[in-house]
Amino acid sequence: MKIDFGPFINGESRIARGGKRSPLINPATEQTWGEMPGATPAEVDAAVNGAHRTFEDTWRDCTPGKRADILFAIARGIRENAAALAEADVNCIGKPISDARDEVALGAKIFEYYAGAIGKFGGQTIPVAAGGFDFTIRQPLGVVAAIVPWNFPFPIACWKVAPALAAGNCVVLKPAKPSPVSAVMLGAIAHHAGLPAGALQVLAGAGSAVGEALVTHPLVRKISFTGSTAVGSRIMELAARDIKRISLELGGKSPNIVFADADLEQAAAKSPMSVFANAGQDCCARSRVFVERKVFDAFVDRFVAATKTIVVGDPRDEKTQVGPLVSAEQRKMVEGFLDGARNDRRRVACGGTRCSDRGYFIAPAVVLDCEPADRIWREEVFGPVVCIRPFDDEEEMIREVNDSPYGLSGSLWTRDIGRALRVARRVESGVLSINSNSSVHVEAPFGGFKQSGMGRDLGMAAMEGYTELKNVYVAS
Ligand code: NAP
Ligand code: MG
Repeated sequence: MKIDFGPFINGESRIARGGKRSPLINPATEQTWGEMPGATPAEVDAAVNGAHRTFEDTWRDCTPGKRADILFAIARGIRENAAALAEADVNCIGKPISDARDEVALGAKIFEYYAGAIGKFGGQTIPVAAGGFDFTIRQPLGVVAAIVPWNFPFPIACWKVAPALAAGNCVVLKPAKPSPVSAVMLGAIAHHAGLPAGALQVLAGAGSAVGEALVTHPLVRKISFTGSTAVGSRIMELAARDIKRISLELGGKSPNIVFADADLEQAAAKSPMSVFANAGQDCCARSRVFVERKVFDAFVDRFVAATKTIVVGDPRDEKTQVGPLVSAEQRKMVEGFLDGARNDRRRVACGGTRCSDRGYFIAPAVVLDCEPADRIWREEVFGPVVCIRPFDDEEEMIREVNDSPYGLSGSLWTRDIGRALRVARRVESGVLSINSNSSVHVEAPFGGFKQSGMGRDLGMAAMEGYTELKNVYVAS
């Protein structure tokens, strides 16, 4: 299968003629290894119109069995092209190869899950007061624009595209500037697997141009967005004009709560990678750690020791756990947070410095002695930085946890089941793990409270979000 780095429209890879070209820079080597032309306004329009035509002509009314067969075939295509897909994300964003491989496998699983869901997804019959017969139908929306970030380029694209297609929509996918390659490959793989031309279009290009053109296009019925809270707010504003459907997965500043009765060894062993994985560029990063004072020193000692063993380096190396940050700009932003903390005399217990002459690497940093008003404690850093603070009282700690505009994810560690359930109910977040650091399960809903977003990805909740609910009443 030949893959060109251009927009993928109506079943064809194109080399964009007039679109602005963006360099692809390998963050581990700082070398430019390719170029991606952005879509022109005419190409955005052609892509949306083509998707709309395919929706009306074939995909909306494609039988569930046939639709499922195609989604299963896409999953097979992903597995067959796994090495090239993983390599694309390694080169684009410096993702460690072992993570990239896992994320491609997750993409395939997502397509399988929604392929299987197609025949099990439907409406209800409802006994209404008027007698007769009342039932609901879940109908596809039409053209969905999926706008995705660079930190988990492939799985996030899959977890928007697969349920949207499964529910009968056509999709225009816009990847982020640093990471368009695996998205364009997904377009080609899906077409090769039998997806009708136009059902999945892929358009690279700047968010301010291609992204906004999609959001405001009259034939786009829903925008499914993952990215920053600032851009999410902008999209909400633009979508409000036509009452477009939106789902927004935005930023986070997630807590990691450790009670004195927790299995301390396990909590300290698992917690570092719950913030440092993907070089901390993870919306679910547990970047605010709350530790009960009785075990504070013991936990911090273990956490710092475990952090020092993390293998930071060449993302192509199988042993690497943490690669570089995505760009020089991102590294500068992270260093700004660390400089601010040092100026305020906060203690950096380890890391926080550049650890290679080449590439945008920063060693994972543990920051102690923060105050709740500190910028580094309150704002999303999106880099390998964690802050750890002690707490004395459960109620006060919960207030501090919830004193954030965000509410995406979090973990809590305790052996007391009553406490675990009590605290889990009170933490304002869409996703929470008890005695674990995992956030994402294909079968379970994923999304945020408050400024972390609205709507849900994954699970059956995502598929519902790509439909309108129609009620039909039949008189008897
Ligand atoms: P971003 O700057 O918000 O960009 C996300 C996507 O939106 C990119 O494709 C971007 O295109 C596009 N975009 C930018 N401006 C736009 C506009 N005015 N209209 C329409 N689209 C526009 O986010 P990012 O820097 O890629 O990713 C980091 C952020 O994403 C973090 O805040 C992180 O927490 C969040 N995130 C959240 C989740 C979650 O599930 N909650 C998951 C991952 C990441 P360009 O690349 O061309 O600018
Ligand atoms: Mg951005």
